[in-house]
Amino acid sequence: TQRTGQSYELAILPGDGIGNEVMPEALRVLDAVGAKHGIRFRYRNFDWNCETYKITGRMMPEDGLDRLRDHDSILLGAVGWPGVPDHISLWGLLLPIRRAFDQYVNLRPVRLLPGVTPPVRDKAPGDIDFWVVRENTEGEYSQLGGRQGEGTENEMVLQTAAFTRRGTDRILRYAFELARRLGKPHVTSATKSNGIYYSMPYWDERFAAIAAEYPDVRVDQDHIDILCARFVMSPERFDVVVASNLFGDILSDLGPGVTGTIGVAPSGNINPERVHPSTFEPVHGSAPDIAGKGIANPIGQIWSAALMLDHLGEAEAGADVVAAIESVLSDDSAPRTPDLGGTASTEDLGKAVAAAV
Ligand code: ATP
Ligand code: MG
Repeated sequence: TQRTGQSYELAILPGDGIGNEVMPEALRVLDAVGAKHGIRFRYRNFDWNCETYKITGRMMPEDGLDRLRDHDSILLGAVGWPGVPDHISLWGLLLPIRRAFDQYVNLRPVRLLPGVTPPVRDKAPGDIDFWVVRENTEGEYSQLGGRQGEGTENEMVLQTAAFTRRGTDRILRYAFELARRLGKPHVTSATKSNGIYYSMPYWDERFAAIAAEYPDVRVDQDHIDILCARFVMSPERFDVVVASNLFGDILSDLGPGVTGTIGVAPSGNINPERVHPSTFEPVHGSAPDIAGKGIANPIGQIWSAALMLDHLGEAEAGADVVAAIESVLSDDSAPRTPDLGGTASTEDLGKAVAAAV
């Protein structure tokens, strides 16, 4: 069914380094899929990055959040550059956006794509195909705690994790809804209730309570240590994996790591209710070592745009983009960037995906 007349206002933040090289390819693919499905995208470009920080002392203008607020989504490249400490780009741009727009879900598909050699043996596309859902606003990454008895023999540091009922339930519920929507009715919870005294037993308790609302969805619970081992040894067993902020942080890098190249992995920072815009960005950073050469793999950025389409309710268009990525990678004669073992440019690969759409 072709939907016509849909129009979306997108905030485009290419950021630093290869962000500026891969973003045009994602927009090229969006234009192609938009033409096919009768969807119009309007792009507003924001040149907020470490360059502007060096000149103005800010990663974004004072009213930056207000300028983003009215967009349907935010598509981000990568921010960060040598000479600008990570916490500046993080606290000056990414975290304020995440918090102001209550993007409480961090979502990462983990899928072995055709034509990519994984670091684990004997895995084929289809063996690794699952989603990591990370809680993105609370948990272990809190500012609760402090130092006591500084400089004395009794010096002690406390770091408190905060798990609210609201914060815990909403991420768990998102995972169950996602499992249903994907037609993969199976959720694995990352826990550590044998070692962590208060928070993880609570997490397990809420997991059981929410699971009871979804009798059609099969559940598993794995301690985070064995879960990490299973990501590598038996990734076939996973469909949707839900985790707290810290555990999810670890799993959401381990997942793409198992699938071979960092250049293809996408992510979303999502406000599921769509009260506020969500942000979609590749997992990789600004890659200073290859920036300016025109050889970065654009697939992470293109796939991030596909996640955005899903979120906007344009599931068919999103699926078309993922299918185009897979068909290009399956074709031995199609262009490949150096990270995929070829000699093609960023633009060659972007054009091939757009043509496949
Ligand atoms: P950040 O802290 O922002 O995540 P980082 O330094 O940890 O950045 P990246 O910038 O992602 O990591 O770079 C890590 C390595 O992966 C580099 O060698 C880089 O060239 C490579 N890389 C990252 N993205 C791509 C891409 N799209 N295509 C090809 N290689 C990439
Ligand atoms: Mg990094």
